[in-house]
Amino acid sequence: CGIVGYVGNKNACEIIIQGLERLEYRGYDSAGVAVCEKGTFKTVKTVGKVAKLKELVGADGLKGNVGIGHTRWATHGGVTTANAHPHTDEKHMVVLVHNGIIENYKELRDELVAENVHFSSETDTEVAAQLLARLYDGEPVKALCQLFKKCRGAFAFVLVFGDRPNELYCVRKGAPLVVALGNGEAYCASDVPAVVEHADKVIFLNEGEICRLSTSGAEFWDLDGVAHQRRTVSVDVDR
Ligand code: GLU
Repeated sequence: CGIVGYVGNKNACEIIIQGLERLEYRGYDSAGVAVCEKGTFKTVKTVGKVAKLKELVGADGLKGNVGIGHTRWATHGGVTTANAHPHTDEKHMVVLVHNGIIENYKELRDELVAENVHFSSETDTEVAAQLLARLYDGEPVKALCQLFKKCRGAFAFVLVFGDRPNELYCVRKGAPLVVALGNGEAYCASDVPAVVEHADKVIFLNEGEICRLSTSGAEFWDLDGVAHQRRTVSVDVDR
C-alpha cells in the first residue's frame, strides 16, 4: 500500500522507516524494509505497525545507503510475515516491493512452478520478483519492459537488482509513484508526504514509465526501452 525507496549517502533504513510512517494514513497490515549492506540485501519484515518494524530493526538499525520499504495492504495471501514485502526470488537476484494487484498472477505462477521455481509466499508480488529474476540477463530496462508486458492489473514496483546494488528501479501502471531528487541522492515513494521533508523537486512517474535512481539522479525509459528526459516540478508543502 505504501512504498519508500532511497539511494544516496545517508542511512537508508532511517529515511525509509520515517517515510513509511508518513504513509501510515493509507492503512496497512504489515511492514518491511530491505537495505543493502556491503553488497547484500538484509530484509526485516513483520505483521503489524511500522513501530514494530522499527523495534525489530533495533537501535543499531541497518547500515546501508540504498534500500526499499513497504507497508502492505494484503490482497493476495494472508497477513503473515512471509507475505510481507520486500520479496525476492529464489536466487536473490531481485528485491522488490509492490503496490497493487497482478491480475494474472495465478497463470504466471503456474508457469513458474512448472519450471520448478520455488515460492516462499502466497503473494502476487513474489510472482513478479521470481519472473523478473528469470527475465533478467544483465539488462535491467529490457527485463522490466518484458515484465511490464507480462503483468496485467495495477501495479507500482520499486526494486533492486542484486548485481546493481547502487541503483533503484521504479515502474508503474495504475498505481502512483513519485520520485524526488536531492543533492547526490534520490527518493521514491507512493505519495509525496514520504519524501517532501528531504527534497521538494519531484517527478510523478507516467503510466508505463521506467525510472532508474542513483546518486547521479534519475533516468527514464518508455516501454520500448527508449530513453527520454523528464523535468522536476516543485512541490510546495509545509515542513
Ligand atoms: N497485492 C500485493 C499483496 O497482497 C500488494 C498489496 C499492496 O498494495 O500493499 O501483497
